Amino acid sequence: MPRAFITGITGQDGQHLAEFLHSKGYEVFGMVKGQNNPKLTAMRDEFPYVEPVPGDLADLPSLLKALESTQPDEVYNLGAISFVALSFNQAELTANITGLGVLRMLEAVRMVGGATNNPIRFYQASSSEMFGKVREIPQTERTPFHPRSPYGCAKVFGHDITVNYRESYGLYACSGILFNHEGPRRGLEFVTRKVTNAVARIKLGLQEELVLGNLDFKRDWGYAGDYVKAMWLMLQQDEPDDYVVATGETHSGEELVRLAFEEAGIDDWQRYVRQDQKFFRPAEVDLLIGDPAKAQDKLGWKREVDFPSLVKMMVENDLRIESARR
Ligand code: NAP
Repeated sequence: MPRAFITGITGQDGQHLAEFLHSKGYEVFGMVKGQNNPKLTAMRDEFPYVEPVPGDLADLPSLLKALESTQPDEVYNLGAISFVALSFNQAELTANITGLGVLRMLEAVRMVGGATNNPIRFYQASSSEMFGKVREIPQTERTPFHPRSPYGCAKVFGHDITVNYRESYGLYACSGILFNHEGPRRGLEFVTRKVTNAVARIKLGLQEELVLGNLDFKRDWGYAGDYVKAMWLMLQQDEPDDYVVATGETHSGEELVRLAFEEAGIDDWQRYVRQDQKFFRPAEVDLLIGDPAKAQDKLGWKREVDFPSLVKMMVENDLRIESARR
């Protein structure tokens, strides 16, 4: 039975990946931080097959201990301070966890190593936010980075140090440059889920308005359930490499809002939406659109869920949750 160790198990992607690897017959270990993590109970209920392991990306000894005790074949480093807005307020914490955390995890992988004939394979969760003020359209594995947030800067370090450990120490280390991916498990702080949850609450009469920042930005949005398959595929190749994972389409913030309201049967969405300067980023990423050709050609990966189906799935999920709460 192959063994996988996942950091960020309590996050959106950690949950999808755990489910996917379990379906593939993996024994799944998930790193949980904190002495009384409130998400642990829910995780045990929903994913009884995941073995929780204590540890923190700020603490190298805990990572070493975690790998020594679990002896994984594959390590997926999904843990991060992942919310761009928070990264502007807590830039040092973001650099420490999202940036230096990758170095600590790589160092733990290098030191623990795994069996000589079966060294540990490592996946780093890199991000399209590294492209920031984009230098070319669409963005590929060769597009230069120009991050526009402390989060994006930390992810650039995480990506570069992953490539460096691969080149310096011969580690099987891959960096997946994933464009935005969403779903019902997305945290409520992220714009897609903030929108679909507010739409559901407005529809049910639980909320009167939706307050947002800039709506002109454009993103390449896919479904998280599709994207974790690409992570796994990267670790099944003969040689480690880096891949852009994206849909190749871009949609505006306004399109997201309009579609979500329409899905709930509300056509005059402008009535309910207000913009507030406090939700604008100090430096915005205006346009992201990825070219997934390499992932499609070499990994045989393709997305299954398109943008309207993704919005529909999220609105329906939030309507279900909010109706049950009423
Ligand atoms: P998420 O839902 O925000 O999950 C982040 C995870 O990181 C949580 O499990 C969190 O644990 C954990 N974490 C935070 N601080 C930690 C620390 N000090 N030590 C160990 N774990 C820590 O993020 P996601 O959407 O699943 O994304 C997964 C990864 O992909 C992240 O690295 C993210 O930056 C990257 N990424 C995401 C997207 C996207 O669109 N979703 C796109 C590109 C890249 P707690 O729950 O205990 O706080």
